[in-house]
Amino acid sequence: MKKNGKTIFACCMMLLLLPAGCTLNRSSLPDRLIDDQQIAVSAGREAVRSDCDTLVITCIDYRFVIANQEFANDTLGLKDNYDQISIPGSIHNLVNPDTRALLFSKFALSVSMHLINRVVVVSHRDCGGYGGSAAFGSEIAEYETLTADLKMARELFLEKYPILKVDLFLESLVKEGDEEKVHFEKIL
Ligand SMILES: [Zn+2]
Repeated sequence: MKKNGKTIFACCMMLLLLPAGCTLNRSSLPDRLIDDQQIAVSAGREAVRSDCDTLVITCIDYRFVIANQEFANDTLGLKDNYDQISIPGSIHNLVNPDTRALLFSKFALSVSMHLINRVVVVSHRDCGGYGGSAAFGSEIAEYETLTADLKMARELFLEKYPILKVDLFLESLVKEGDEEKVHFEKIL
């Protein structure tokens, strides 16, 4: 009993020592920018332009950040040619009438300042903005809700900006061997 008590105490202490928030993907690298120093990062070759072609809207979820950038840069060929807005739930708050106006006021800057002609909307399964996969009850229900929301977002954009082209994608984390891959599905 005494040994069990000690083990439980040690486990509790370890849990207390875990930092709040994301504990799985913490980088062990220190910040490279320290007091009073500056670093330079190359801007894109097209950074002097006053406009760009596309607005990409994604969720903030850290699991998809790199994949979203590679998808936009390489798969869609948009490198140096897109604005990106990341919001929890991607277009979840756009399809909600209560928050729609606020979202559109932010998207409008991309349309009026950078003269975009295309919007790419990316949503993902197991999105915290929707309460995660568990909130839907089944994979099919989740898929149907997410794709219906994407299609509604497209309608809302086209109502407001009929000249825009709107492309929709749904992404999922898929285990392949020991690796987690991000799959993108185009939603028509
Ligand atoms: Zn999300």
